[in-house]
Amino acid sequence: AKARGRNRLSFFEPAIQDALMRRSRLEADLRAAVTREEFTLYYQPQVDHTGTLVGAEVLVRWNHPHAGLVPPGEFIPLAEETSLIGPIGRQVLEQACSRIAHWNSLGLGQSLTIAVNVSAVQFRDPTFVTQVLDLLSRHGIDPSRLKLELTESLILDDVQGSIVTMNRLKAEGVGFSMDDFGTGYSSLSYLKRLPLDQLKIDRSFVEDVTTDPNDAVIVRTIIAMSRSLGLDVLAEGVERPEQRAFLVANGCQVFQGYLFSPPVDTSTFEAMLTGRIGF
Ligand code: C2E
Ligand code: CA
Ligand code: CA
Ligand code: CA
Repeated sequence: AKARGRNRLSFFEPAIQDALMRRSRLEADLRAAVTREEFTLYYQPQVDHTGTLVGAEVLVRWNHPHAGLVPPGEFIPLAEETSLIGPIGRQVLEQACSRIAHWNSLGLGQSLTIAVNVSAVQFRDPTFVTQVLDLLSRHGIDPSRLKLELTESLILDDVQGSIVTMNRLKAEGVGFSMDDFGTGYSSLSYLKRLPLDQLKIDRSFVEDVTTDPNDAVIVRTIIAMSRSLGLDVLAEGVERPEQRAFLVANGCQVFQGYLFSPPVDTSTFEAMLTGRIGF
């Protein structure tokens, strides 16, 4: 009865009604954005301990006709709820692959790994594996150039199903990174069973790694864990030299964060690839 009362209230509460209208407008806009292909990709450099560019993470932005560039935090959650994430994710992969192919044709960044975020709904689509493999072959891209970022919660939701899907792509050379690592409930026992290549230490642990002893222990443990599992380890959200120093001293190999570069648009990233701009 209480729940129903609350529902009924929502029809009369102007603030809630406003929020609902904003949401349905956003959803209609997002649907149109999919049709008009209004998504654009940013690239955030990933560097090793010598400062060499080794890869990039693809981060989507919505180029809204009136609002300008909308960050993913403002539309990905809605896209996931409405299953618009399927077509959006496909457009992201398509754009990323055609960029990689373009760079290949120019002889640029051929040793870089390009990481793409994958949502649960997208990953569970029975056609996901063939979508990815078709794209790679259509663009003539070596599958090992692509790394897919999955979250712990996505994997934990269906560990066996995830392993099957990952193995099919892995067999062709596609890599996998576990995103936001440490924020979920991973245990060593199932980590061992997953065909992962990399753990990505969540930004929230990197943030205070030099001042909060708990975070320092967590980060050291993740690095040690990745080593014993034979995985690469990347730290995200590296903003200050002392964070990098701590990470290097403790054996982390790859870094991503504002210290090196924010996510940049295609032409800026291409200038980095040609060496016209450094970090
Ligand atoms: P994420 O995968 O954890 O991506 C990293 C986010 O951290 C990015 O935010 C990036 O701009 C931000 N970041 C990078 N370096 C730093 C730093 O040094 N300090 C701080 N404070 N932040 C940093 P962004 O681009 O707003 O993306 C937010 C989230 O949206 C991503 O989090 C990811 O979960 C999601 N997302 C982005 N692109 C896609 C996509 O193509 N598909 C899907 N499914 N999700 C995406
Ligand atoms: Ca990510
Ligand atoms: Ca992350
Ligand atoms: Ca903290």
